[in-house]
Amino acid sequence: MEKVAVVLIRNDRRLHDHEGLALSQSFDRYLVLAMLPPQWDEPSRIAPARKSFIQSSINAFAKGLGPIPLHFTRTTELLLEHLSKIFEVTLIAEAQGAEEEDQELRRFKDTPLHLTRPNTIFDRPELSPTFTPFRKKLEKFAKASIPGERVFLDPERALDLPEYRFQRFEVPTLATVGESNARARVAHYLESNLESYSETRNYLEAQDASSRFSNFLANGEISVRWIYQEILRRDPDNWLALELLWREFFWQHGATFILPSRGRNVSGWEKKLSHPLAQAIHNELTATGYISNRSRQILASYLIYEVGLDWKIGGAFYEAHLHDYDVFVNWGNWQYIAGVKFDPRGGRRFNLDLQQEKYDPEGTYIRKWAES
Ligand SMILES: Cc1cc2nc3c(=O)[nH]c(=O)nc-3n(C[C@H](O)[C@H](O)[C@H](O)COP(=O)(O)OP(=O)(O)OC[C@H]3O[C@@H](n4cnc5c(N)ncnc54)[C@H](O)[C@@H]3O)c2cc1C
Repeated sequence: MEKVAVVLIRNDRRLHDHEGLALSQSFDRYLVLAMLPPQWDEPSRIAPARKSFIQSSINAFAKGLGPIPLHFTRTTELLLEHLSKIFEVTLIAEAQGAEEEDQELRRFKDTPLHLTRPNTIFDRPELSPTFTPFRKKLEKFAKASIPGERVFLDPERALDLPEYRFQRFEVPTLATVGESNARARVAHYLESNLESYSETRNYLEAQDASSRFSNFLANGEISVRWIYQEILRRDPDNWLALELLWREFFWQHGATFILPSRGRNVSGWEKKLSHPLAQAIHNELTATGYISNRSRQILASYLIYEVGLDWKIGGAFYEAHLHDYDVFVNWGNWQYIAGVKFDPRGGRRFNLDLQQEKYDPEGTYIRKWAES
């Protein structure tokens, strides 16, 4: 029997530094299969704009594959059943470690599964409960992993099942998705803005104030190992490298908490946004799918400490709308601000008037987003 690798593409839509695709080339045949997030059919978990964003990313990945066919189905079990009658099948997936994503893989328990490394900078570093000791140990003792090369897939050995072939989603082509846009963004940002990053990163809104790598990282269109290496090569002490270590911190910890149960009444809180800055941030997020790090902190703090909202409901609101939603980074930050975990100071409560004075003294941001 011929050996076939089925590479499940989830949040790893790239060809550079892709261990699973590289491994698939050692099998007799291989098939590339795109998956949707497990929360896809739950409207309260993914807003329509984030769905389009993900679909646009899958379109871009299919385009990047060139002659290699991408496959797609909502009934992966049937496809695997079909293939297993003809071939010896192994599933390959990039590890993500989050509960729902892991559970999804368990659905395919009849097919052997090979998990490759997650998109992290370090392989199993020593953990600490808070960020600073974690970072210090990394900087002193750990060695960042070296990113893999670009994978070239052999068209001769690619399986092509016409009935499962991916058809392009009818959504706009976005500049904020796709591996080629991701690599161009990294090249541009590191060349032009790295020096000013530490001064501008806290702005509420400005082109190039921060890297905007998060959209690409959320889709796995870029290797974090590669970005980290590129930053260190230019400026080892740059603040941007430190922010990527925050991502690393949350990824290495994983997400360990229970989401608010389904059906719980979580509506009505949006009417309680009485501060104009909180309202403006809310409006920007629902209109664009992105808000700056400072805005995420301000709104999260406001919802937790002024509105009295359960932090898990706030986190679920961000999950639905943020295009760069990342299970570990989102929930890790919410726990940090709520003082549930990770923060040695036991949570972060921001004074919105002071934040407004500091970051929007002319009221430009509030006026722009007041009415959306
Ligand atoms: C409550 C809350 C929820 C958040 N939810 C998410 C989320 O779902 N997805 C997400 O990618 N980021 C999230 N962040 C982190 C951060 O706000 C975004 O990564 C950042 O604003 C994205 O813009 P950027 O890529 O231009 O960031 P930059 O400032 O350019 O940072 C570069 C990269 O460093 C990492 N990073 C930056 N800030 C943090 C941080 N506070 N924690 C962990 N990693 C960080 C991200 O990977 C980011 O892309 C959240 C922050 C808060 C306070």
